[in-house]
Amino acid sequence: LALSLAACSSAEETPEADSTSGGAPAASDECNVGIAMPTRSLERWINDGEGLKARLEENGCTVDLQYADNETDQQISQLQNMIANGSNILVIAAIDGTTLGPVLQTAGDADATVIAYDRLILESENVDYYATFDNYSVGTLQGEYIESELGLANGDGPYNFEPFAGSPDDNNARFFFAGAWDVLSEYVDSGQLVVPSNKAPASVDDWQSIGILGWGSDDAQAEMENRLSSFYAGGEKVDVVLSPNDSLAVGIAQALRTSGYTADDFPILTGQDGDKAAVTQILAGEQSMTVWKDTRLLGERVETMIMSILAGEEPEVNDTETYDNGVKVVPSYLITPEVVTADDVQSKLIDSGFLQPADVGL
Ligand code: BGC
Repeated sequence: LALSLAACSSAEETPEADSTSGGAPAASDECNVGIAMPTRSLERWINDGEGLKARLEENGCTVDLQYADNETDQQISQLQNMIANGSNILVIAAIDGTTLGPVLQTAGDADATVIAYDRLILESENVDYYATFDNYSVGTLQGEYIESELGLANGDGPYNFEPFAGSPDDNNARFFFAGAWDVLSEYVDSGQLVVPSNKAPASVDDWQSIGILGWGSDDAQAEMENRLSSFYAGGEKVDVVLSPNDSLAVGIAQALRTSGYTADDFPILTGQDGDKAAVTQILAGEQSMTVWKDTRLLGERVETMIMSILAGEEPEVNDTETYDNGVKVVPSYLITPEVVTADDVQSKLIDSGFLQPADVGL
């Protein structure tokens, strides 16, 4: 914090600092941050955006926080405005990771530093850093949870299994699916996991074929209803559903409820984020787990990165190999996610202040 205050408050008096930084990012005389978030419709992005804005303002930064209704064009024009208005740092959770190249060229030409937030931005040279959770490990935790709950490693089965994947335009969704599939595909091959809908992708690289565009609960619900009515009409039961996140899990659970499942026979159902609605279903026995990504840690990490950049230092990263955006490998900081089940909602989510008891009906 001392460093950050120095970076922000002494800046006005020392504009010459720019020229002394050598290979590191130039020390800046201002902290003018544009934060571009995808949508207010999902709880986590509201927490992400507002949490980060508050942290940066405490450090004396000027912050322009924008949400784009999950519309790529809207996000691009918000970024254009931020650059035109003098943001020297852009923090971007991309809606479609492949469409920001031209606007980021403008950012690069204006010498703005670009931090990809949570989701990698693809096909652009002008992405300086990436701060996220370990996305592959999110999927691994989901896959291992299913493996262990069903005793798959002991040869148990067969179980009826329905896999889902996230939005095809979100680079994270690829990692979530790959992490889970690298655990589970051997059990599909061995016949311990049977997929009545045939919606198991032929290979891990075909995950987009079962992706839910835009991560919407309603679309996930419609897809699950469709699978239930087409492939389970004869009374067969679903034993397990791989859902990559909570917004999909909420829709999938609704479809299951509508078709008569109760907490007594609900399938194993995974999730991610620790959203209020999903944690409420976890406590009701209608979702098995969520992979919790404490967005406060991500905000703290991005704050630390920005303060290093303003001080003319290289921000700390812990991964320089994984996140190739098609043009370059983006230096990344990956935070470790963790599993939360009904047993640790209180100790992990409530006691840490991430959720309030009333948020989840406690
Ligand atoms: C994020 C998830 C989120 C999903 C839908 C992903 O990029 O990493 O945390 O659930 O988008 O918004």
